[in-house]
Amino acid sequence: MVEMDRKIHLIITRQKDAHSEPYKEEFLVPYRPNMNIISALMEIQKNAVNAKGEKTTPVIWESVCLEEVCGACSMVINGKPRQACSTLIDQLTEPITLAPMSTFPVIRDLMVDRQRMFDALKRVRAWVPIDGTYDLGPGPRMPEKTRQWAYELSKCMTCGCCLEACPNVNNKSTFIGPAPLSQVRLFNAHPTGAMHKEERLTAIMGDGGITACGNSQNCVQVCPKGIPLTTSIAQVNRQVTKWSFKRFFG
Ligand code: SF4
Repeated sequence: MVEMDRKIHLIITRQKDAHSEPYKEEFLVPYRPNMNIISALMEIQKNAVNAKGEKTTPVIWESVCLEEVCGACSMVINGKPRQACSTLIDQLTEPITLAPMSTFPVIRDLMVDRQRMFDALKRVRAWVPIDGTYDLGPGPRMPEKTRQWAYELSKCMTCGCCLEACPNVNNKSTFIGPAPLSQVRLFNAHPTGAMHKEERLTAIMGDGGITACGNSQNCVQVCPKGIPLTTSIAQVNRQVTKWSFKRFFG
């Protein structure tokens, strides 16, 4: 086939709204070298005609930064949760299947509501508290060794891929998932954030907390940022154990 006539075959799981039944629709979109999934979806947006030649509605998805920083364009591509912006067509086998992540409620087509992740970040106080009323200066220094691994953890973009891959995150479980647990490790290691260490550990000791982790280790394999999630969970587990003893013995 002449390269300029080549078409990309996409099978997309679509859903009209949060309450509709999902269905599959196939598309053939013009190929260009170096396309990513977003650019293929943009072709459908420009010309919403399915593989049967029927006029249809444009496929809806969410994206913001287009450089794997915001986490918004997560979807299941050829069976694997990943970012549509950094997934190149040339590296995929066809037909390419696109589906919304199943861990989150679908808003429409490939767009999901990741609110449960943001609620979990609030639950574990994933921030360094400052009141912003005066200049705090340059802030406390961290040992270089700590800064290096903390920086890796700070790359989390709340994309949800680790929750999608985790067998213990589903609609029958309240497990907050790997990403918020890793943020507990990050903020507990910060010199100012450590002031709320015990509150964070208490927050993950209850229902849906760290004991819901089944150690399947799927999360670490799908994280687009290569965050050592299982190491984080093991570290936080140790912190929780120490804090439990401290609380018990007063
Ligand atoms: Fe995404 Fe990785 Fe953060 Fe999980 S830990 S939300 S996979 S960036």
